[in-house]
This record gives sequence, C-alpha cells and structure tokens, in this order.
Amino acid sequence: LLDFNENMSQVTGETTLLYKEIARNVEKTKKIKIIDFGIGQPDLPTFKRIRDAAKEALDQGFTFYTSAFGIDELREKIAQYLNTRYGADVKKEEVIVTPGAKPALFLVFILYINPGDEVILPDPSFYSYAEVVKLLGGKPIYTNLKWSREEGFSIDVDELQSKISKRTKMIVFNNPHNPTGTLFSPNDVKKIVDISRDNKIILLSDEIYDNFVYEGKMRSTLEDSDWRDFLIYVNGFSKTFSMTGWRLGYIVAKREIIQKMGVLAANIYTAPTSFVQKAAVKAFDTFDEVNEMVKLFKKRRDVMYDELIKVKGIEVSKPNGAFYMFPNVSKLLKISGLDVKSFAIKLIEEKGIVTIPGEVFPLNIGKEFLRLSFAVNEEVIREGVQKIREFAEQMM
Ligand code: PLP
Repeated sequence: LLDFNENMSQVTGETTLLYKEIARNVEKTKKIKIIDFGIGQPDLPTFKRIRDAAKEALDQGFTFYTSAFGIDELREKIAQYLNTRYGADVKKEEVIVTPGAKPALFLVFILYINPGDEVILPDPSFYSYAEVVKLLGGKPIYTNLKWSREEGFSIDVDELQSKISKRTKMIVFNNPHNPTGTLFSPNDVKKIVDISRDNKIILLSDEIYDNFVYEGKMRSTLEDSDWRDFLIYVNGFSKTFSMTGWRLGYIVAKREIIQKMGVLAANIYTAPTSFVQKAAVKAFDTFDEVNEMVKLFKKRRDVMYDELIKVKGIEVSKPNGAFYMFPNVSKLLKISGLDVKSFAIKLIEEKGIVTIPGEVFPLNIGKEFLRLSFAVNEEVIREGVQKIREFAEQMM
C-alpha cells in the first residue's frame, strides 16, 4: 500500500498548514491568543450578489455536470472581462474554467512536463509550482529575486535568461507576486515575455492577484497581441472576489491547447461545480465591492508597514501588490542563532503570532524572510506587530 509513485518522496503538501497546527496546540495547551498572519485569503465574506446567484442556481436545479470547459456564459464573461481590462482579444473557446487556480496550474504542468524537463521559476515562489513539477519528474530551476530595503524585490531578467538550457520547457511567472507582494514593473514583464517568445519557451503566467494593486501599473502578459504564440495564462476567483472556498479558476491559451486541457479535465474531475459557475457569472458585476476591498487592504498594508518599520532588527519594504509583506529578519536570526523555521515556531510558541517562514517558498533567499499576510483587520495587525516587537526586543 505504500509503494507510491517514486517522485512522491520529493513532494510536500501545504506546508503553511503546519504552522497553523502548531498554533492550535499552543492555543490549547498554553492558552495564548493566536493572531494569524499566515493566511492566504481575503477575510471578507463572498459578496452578496454572488451568494444570491449561487442560491438561485441551486433552487433552479442547476446541479448537474457541465461541459468540461465550463459553461459558455462564464467562458464568455471571462473573455469579455480580460478583453476590456487588458485590451486583449480572447475568444470564449480560448478559456477553460477549472475548480481553482491550483488545479489550473496542475493541468498545465501535466500537459507539458516530461521527466527531465526544466522549469524556471523565481525564488521565492508560490510553493506548489515546484512540487507539481517534481511530481512529474521535471526539474525546478530557480532564478533569485533581488532585494534591497529601499527598492523591494525585483527580477533580474539577465539572470533568468542565463538559466535557459536545452531542456528548458517553461518559465513560471507570478505577478503580483506571492510571497513578496511585488508588482513587477511593466518593463520587466515585457522583457520576460520577449525572452519566452525569442527562445520559444512556454510562459506560464499566474496573475491571480491582479486586482490587488496599490501603486503602479499592472501589465498583464495578455497585453501582447501575439500572446497565443507563447502564453498560458492562469487566474481565478479566489482572491479577487473572496471566493477561496468555492474553488473556481481558469486558464486562457490558444484554442488547440484549451482543447487538450478539456481532455485532461474530463478525465480528472469531469467539470467544475455547476452552480458555482452560475454564481461566478455575477461576480463580474461586483467590482464596486472589489474596489472597496482593495481600498481596505491598502489601508491595512500601510498600518502593517508603519508598525513593522518600528521594529528593530527587522527590515521591510512596502509591497505594491497582493496582500503579503515579506520582511527580512536576518539580523534577528544572527543574534538568536535560530534558523527562520525555528524563529517562526518560537514566535508562535511565545507570542501566538503565526507567520510563514520564507523557506517554504522554497530555496535560498527565503531563508532570511518571513511572510506576513495583511488580510486581517487593522486592530489585529497593530496588536500582532506589537507582539512581534516585544519578541524582537527580547532577543536584542
Ligand atoms: N497561485 C498563487 C500565486 C496563489 O497564491 C494561490 C493561492 O494561494 C493560488 C494560485 C491558488 O488559488 P486557488 O484558490 O484558485 O486554487
């Protein structure tokens, strides 16, 4: 029974959950109040119009399998939305609706990755890309993001280009970026698109945080008119519409690719959930609510940043996107002799503060950083950062 697929030994699950588990134990045994900066989802309820549409669809009996590609009405809406927003020319047939962005990414990797294929990704990155690549026998190749306190994170496109080999199959790009909250410059996005086009390497672009932009301009990879030649675009409903539990995402690519995705979808999960798709059609009418949420998140970001810069031993840059802050704690690690994982665990055990150690995301640079989510209310942010401050001061 334990004779698993041999690549499985290299794959880990949602490591972020481990820290929540530790927190649950601390809460129970030590009676310490837990403040969770580990969460990766908006904390607001899904907007009412979306909930109502789901109820209506259920009451109307919209509870059967749909097409593996999703319902036409939703595919059409997604295409229209992207075209209006990014000046693209996506057709309904170039969209497949999936049960979340993670399954979307999974479909992309299964469709393309052969054993030995190399996939270039930034370090740090959303952990699941590398895990799925390894599961399929592929090899993650990392390009380090650069960091300075003043400038924040950026991608070194020359370094990225230098990682290309004969075995490179794909470049994975995520903008705005988890875990650093970076909005990459339009110029860098353009350069990455050019590298992918010039080298005939697939660009997998995960733009799931594209509505969480606080300053600067978001350039989508869909803005290049020849996107069909190199791009597989992934997005979803989880973050923009606060719909994480509903499980809905999508892929955009040229028609032949989407056809193949449909074959995989039919074999793996048949179709995304029917009434959830009906509700998602109405999600595109809730941008007033989305904009309010983003305003609220911007305020929270400012509060967290203003409080964190007061903490001695922590260096932090202000992120322009997503809802994560990625402070450098290397000074505190040096003083305490702790590695970042033990540091995060001690912070839970002594102060009840959950953060995610950077090395979850996954390699070198992350070893000196912690990810804090500001998708929590302002009072909690103030209280939590105050406790981090006490924790840091005890170490000094
Ligand atoms: N991509 C990135 C960069 C994410 O941060 C997340 C969720 O945390 C996902 C994809 C997965 O989103 P979904 O809930 O649609 O599966």
